[in-house]
Amino acid sequence: MITQTFLCVRANALPPVPRRAAPAHGLAARFGTAFLTLVAAACAPVPQDDQGAPGAVAVTNATIIDGMGGAPITDGVVIAEGDRIVAVGPAAEVTVPDGATIIDAAGGAVMPGLADMHVHMVGGWDGVSTEMLGYRRYLNALLHAGVTTVFDAGNVLPFIQQIQAEIEAGRLPGPRVYMAGPLVDGPVPIWPPITYFTFEASAMWRHASQLAVAGVDALKGYAGLSAEMVDSLVQAGAEFGLPVIVDLGSRGDYAAAVDAGVLARAHAPSGPLSDDEIAAMVEHGTATITTLAVLESFARRRLTDLDFLDHPLIAATTPPWFLEALREHATRTLSDAEVGFVASIEERLMTAMTNVKRLSDAGVLLVAGTDAPYPGVFQGEGIHRELELLVEAGLTPLQAITVATHNAARLMDASDEWGAIAPGMAADLLVVRGNPAENIGATRDILAVIQRGVVLDRSQLVFSALDDLGFRTVGSVAAN
Ligand SMILES: [Zn+2]
Repeated sequence: MITQTFLCVRANALPPVPRRAAPAHGLAARFGTAFLTLVAAACAPVPQDDQGAPGAVAVTNATIIDGMGGAPITDGVVIAEGDRIVAVGPAAEVTVPDGATIIDAAGGAVMPGLADMHVHMVGGWDGVSTEMLGYRRYLNALLHAGVTTVFDAGNVLPFIQQIQAEIEAGRLPGPRVYMAGPLVDGPVPIWPPITYFTFEASAMWRHASQLAVAGVDALKGYAGLSAEMVDSLVQAGAEFGLPVIVDLGSRGDYAAAVDAGVLARAHAPSGPLSDDEIAAMVEHGTATITTLAVLESFARRRLTDLDFLDHPLIAATTPPWFLEALREHATRTLSDAEVGFVASIEERLMTAMTNVKRLSDAGVLLVAGTDAPYPGVFQGEGIHRELELLVEAGLTPLQAITVATHNAARLMDASDEWGAIAPGMAADLLVVRGNPAENIGATRDILAVIQRGVVLDRSQLVFSALDDLGFRTVGSVAAN
């Protein structure tokens, strides 16, 4: 039986968002579905059944993009019951249950909620200044933009641990969070406050065991590690069921890391990449997280015309002082050295785009990520920009969408749980106007976000100076 309830954002008024960690990574079932009981969107009327689970939701009159690259279904219907998708197909073949909440896409499209598999919920607008107390703004911006999953690729461990736990329990609105916890770096780390230092390869077992106990989903090896250290980290991780994702900088020995068995590179290669290296990635099943958006940031390409800051996904979710600081950053005069640096990064962005297309063609698992926040790379809006850059790199819009949905779930060995539109999958859905299969920019024009079967009230996710305590960024996460 369906009844209407009306709840605001309070403890126990949100969809719990368990991520069901991957069995292959040895962390399965830490969070079962037993506590999936409650729920209602933030301050929105949501039909619930007698058990308090979300009532049926039907997305109608939509082109269905399944996230797995299947041919889009026109005039389709997707039904969610509880937190799951239960039916998908052409309107003629799917019956809408009585009492279901109807989301009429009016000829638009429905696709899986997006995944940004490289973010840091710690840096301010510039990615460097420390911004921890404003975490709600970041989480809201992500949900507002239809991002229902993120991988935090480096953070202060207890901080991101608690954010993950509160979201999973349904006490904090936010996307499904996977995390690496701290970076594992060499003896002179680039990001000291978010790093475990390593002086010798033998320390890796201790790092891996500590992080396994803390419940991280993957280890993040960083630029100061020697090839031997990366190898030790992969072996230590394997003992605890933790895969390793690496960012070894522009001069790192990625060939050795691929041989050692890392799960993924944290960024698309932006330098020379031989066919042999690509073949080795295919052979070892090494994935690549794309992060073209952060290269675009360092290349300042997006900063030449700041009109994009008026886009609702940014303007509605970003505090004014972030935007002011960004405008200042964009318009200041650069030194000759900086001009040279920017030009070199522009070249690397072009190389990375070429490489992304080559990796895609070769069958390497590509996964979308942004490395947000950085100047011009926003939590939430950033993944829409990444989709556009992937298409600019030569992927089809459908391929790009798969990279930002189903492939992200494959990276986390959770593709039977989320990241696609099919019966039995988590009901994380993005409903948009227009057809992103033809024009990737249409993902930005959001009609509705459904998380775990709950239609979110996006008006509750916009930035409000009245509700915000106005905390400012301080200091720096980076070493001086
Ligand atoms: Zn990063």
